[in-house]
Amino acid sequence: MAVLEALTSQQAIDLENKYGAHNYHPLPVVLSRGEGVYVWDVEGKKYYDFLSAYSAVNQGHCHPRIVGALTEQAKNLTLTSRAFYNDMLGKYEKYATETFKFDKLLPMNTGAEAVETALKLCRKWGYEKKGIAENEAQIIVCENNFHGRTTTIISFSNDPVARENFGPYTDGFIKIEYDNLKALEHALQSHSNVVGFLVEPIQGEAGVYVPSDGYLKEAKALCAQYGVLFIADEVQTGIARTGRLLATCGNCSCAEKHCSGTPEVKPDILILGKALSGGAYPVSAVLANDDIMNVIRPGNHGSTFGGNPIAAAVGMTALEVIKDEELAQNAYELGNLFREKLNAFIPTCDLVTQVRGKGLLNAIVINDTEDSTTAWDICMALKENGLLAKPTHGNIIRFAPPLVMTEAQLLDCVSIITKTLQAFEK
Ligand SMILES: *Cc1c(COP(=O)(O)O)cnc(C)c1O
Repeated sequence: MAVLEALTSQQAIDLENKYGAHNYHPLPVVLSRGEGVYVWDVEGKKYYDFLSAYSAVNQGHCHPRIVGALTEQAKNLTLTSRAFYNDMLGKYEKYATETFKFDKLLPMNTGAEAVETALKLCRKWGYEKKGIAENEAQIIVCENNFHGRTTTIISFSNDPVARENFGPYTDGFIKIEYDNLKALEHALQSHSNVVGFLVEPIQGEAGVYVPSDGYLKEAKALCAQYGVLFIADEVQTGIARTGRLLATCGNCSCAEKHCSGTPEVKPDILILGKALSGGAYPVSAVLANDDIMNVIRPGNHGSTFGGNPIAAAVGMTALEVIKDEELAQNAYELGNLFREKLNAFIPTCDLVTQVRGKGLLNAIVINDTEDSTTAWDICMALKENGLLAKPTHGNIIRFAPPLVMTEAQLLDCVSIITKTLQAFEK
């Protein structure tokens, strides 16, 4: 079987089933091409992508500038390892730190690696700057979090499917309820060895849970009061997804275009991934100021591929595209329109109880039990009607299209979604 041999959808599915580990349960659609907000299956059927690879493809599929940066760099130099300098990494680090207003960036590849990096950085800071006793550092995390799949990260997950039979687990984490400031304050008061609080500004995987207004700001203030680092995992919410460059820009009513650029909530450690590359390449990063980042010294941490010249060229271009195309502004406006249209529809439909989200990170809640297949069946019907979305946590469907969508395309999608739901109800 040659690389270029064309397969039918069924052949491709059969191959994955037979030769691949069954660690995912994909919707039965086999994609072979993408452009902007669209993807095509191997039979040539066109779909709106309403998942965007879990918000990695914010800039749209195969963005010509990002693909251009990738291919140009690939012809010159792909990997040096950090044993030597390369001529792209510093440029990218300067651009990214200026964009997000931090002193320094530590480059990694995947989101989980960046979370691991942030946890290590936070612990080391705790021992060296706060004088925490050896092996005593604690990091507060939230229930129903999703931060990735490594052994340490799943140690503080409470999703049994992600966790069971992967022990023994890593110690040093205190779990509290999300969106609960009292619980945070209590944890900070009752444990003397806390060094950080790791939080998603919106819990994406859990089902797009948007915390109460002021939660992040108050949480950051509590962390500051107790001398604890506020660590924002913006792997999914960052890079314009929620209508601002970062979701920690807070609840100001402006969209990015008019923003002063000063985030309402400035994390001590910022974790980025996914759309940092526009989906073209695995690129993740941890950002912090010198007083924190300088605890990392040569040999303490690293990655063979982290900060490679392709990643640097792609990462810098992906951020330029966000700015130049004003994608935060677009996500903000289209997100408002999307929720407005669905909120008008919901009272006419028994099948959906709620739409929630920010910018173009949204979800609808299906009126059925968590273990029902209704959300999956609706996604199958949406697929037939030319729109790809995936259930998350049973009865919730996440809607996160690329941010390069036009208003006309969004209205077309709203019509596909509402018609599908109407037909489904009958
Ligand atoms: C996807 C995600 C991760 C993990 O990223 P990977 O690249 O899959 O390792 C971490 N945190 C959040 C909030 C995510 O959405």
